[in-house]
Amino acid sequence: MKILIAEDEVALASVMSKGLSEKGYEVSIAPDGQTALSMALQYDFRLMILDVMLPVINGLEVCRQLRKKKAVLPVLMLTALGSTENIVSGLDSGADDYLVKPFKFVELEARIRSLLRRGVYDENVIDKIHFGPVEMNLASKTVYRSGKLISLTSTEFRLLECLLRNQKKVLSRMELLEKVWGVDFNMATNVVDVYVNYLRKKIDKDFEIKLIHTVVGMGYVLK
Ligand code: CA
Repeated sequence: MKILIAEDEVALASVMSKGLSEKGYEVSIAPDGQTALSMALQYDFRLMILDVMLPVINGLEVCRQLRKKKAVLPVLMLTALGSTENIVSGLDSGADDYLVKPFKFVELEARIRSLLRRGVYDENVIDKIHFGPVEMNLASKTVYRSGKLISLTSTEFRLLECLLRNQKKVLSRMELLEKVWGVDFNMATNVVDVYVNYLRKKIDKDFEIKLIHTVVGMGYVLK
């Protein structure tokens, strides 16, 4: 389960990161608001720990921008100030919960568990997946690349969803066959190549930067 920590205080960020890694979370750290925002939009995090006082863009603004883009990522805001006013503006900006610094690690962990338990953020309910210029909406079954609507058949949609959920990971033809079509060993794996080509024509053909790549002898990767 991937967690993003947006915190510029190196010591605090590393203590949280170390503790959460030990609990089995996969942790990434963003040292400023701009980096945090782009990482949150690009990768599939399950939760973000967001400090209010961050360089470049502050935490409140990061949260507002995130919500403007309709990202459903749960946000746990950290505030050093602890005044009611700061907590209110944190929650107004779209944060789901807050923690006042300094806090004990067990408190942090408890808040994280509680946020992850909230049904709305169940992995299967996250309704948007982003990858660079590509945005897939799982609820409306629509795909946009650079704001342009790309119309896909249901198989192409499932294939792209699978690539998006495994971005930067090489998927073999067998894996794709299994995940997208359901296991069917009678089916020739070239059905995968055929559909990858269909998808390329729609997602990559009209764009300079190609996202779907063939890894010779291995399979395909979205990167
Ligand atoms: Ca800070």
